[in-house]
Amino acid sequence: RTQHLAIYGKGGIGKSTTTSNIAAALAEAGYRVVQIGCDPKSDSTNTLRGGAWLETVLDRTRDGANVRLENISAIGYRGVVCVEAGGPVPGVGCAGRGINAAIALLHELHLFDEFKPDVVLYDVLGDVVCGGFAVPIREGLTERVYVVSSADFMAVYAANNLFRAINKYAPSGGARLGGVIANSILPGFSRPLIDDFAARTGTRIVDHVPRSTAVAQAELCGKTVIEAAPASPQAEVYRALARSIVEDRSSVIPKPMAPAELRQWARDWGDLLLRDGAAEPAVAAA
Ligand code: ADP
Ligand code: SF4
Ligand code: MG
Repeated sequence: RTQHLAIYGKGGIGKSTTTSNIAAALAEAGYRVVQIGCDPKSDSTNTLRGGAWLETVLDRTRDGANVRLENISAIGYRGVVCVEAGGPVPGVGCAGRGINAAIALLHELHLFDEFKPDVVLYDVLGDVVCGGFAVPIREGLTERVYVVSSADFMAVYAANNLFRAINKYAPSGGARLGGVIANSILPGFSRPLIDDFAARTGTRIVDHVPRSTAVAQAELCGKTVIEAAPASPQAEVYRALARSIVEDRSSVIPKPMAPAELRQWARDWGDLLLRDGAAEPAVAAA
């Protein structure tokens, strides 16, 4: 049975990097993988394809021409099928048209019944700039959602908003949360902070992905870390993350913090770090 998994997070937080490395790691392990980018930036699958841009489904179907599967998808690293849903204008989003149109078309062109993927990864912008980011959650297109977040307040804020969307739609058949992927973790307070956030919202951390120069180097080469630096520690982190995402199918309905509560939580962390000279990871998970 195909697992449909969505990966959300604030713009620029590392969704596409993380998703593409998961896709590459799964493909390397023999899984049949489809990756669908859903972000007006439409650069989700670039590092699976040597850094090249892929035309979006929205652009390709705009003139109503007859479209074939090979017009709206490309084969990337180790056979990963790459699709970019696309959105009209950066900063405006497409109110869900992108992902809806892409999925309907992929069904019509029999991608899912013919390719029979083990895993479909949706790399979705879950930010306020994006008009319809809740679509894959709300309409039950995906069974589990993962949220990428660093320890920066705005990333945590976006994650908490996403928890609100999941919390709202899960009882009526929407997706549940698989967990938080903590990204760009540095030595010091970022790990205990994000762990504390997960504990406070009734969620769990799937894995901690360190901030690494291997990511930047691989990206310059138009590759994932899995492809560019397969023997690196960072590649091992992505392999472990990929395994845990497909093998551990547990999920929860998160308990988001109220806005004022989140603000106070952040302030308490800020005060604590100030007292500690921002040096020591001092707070244990609640
Ligand atoms: P998003 O898809 O969420 O908008 P990207 O995946 O495009 O974000 O990542 C934004 C930038 O952050 C990229 O230049 C990427 O290389 C970098 N990045 C992401 N994760 C890491 C990491 N763990 N270590 C170092 N750089 C990272
Ligand atoms: Fe993708 Fe939805 Fe945003 Fe459109 S509104 S770009 S489909 S996440
Ligand atoms: Mg992206």
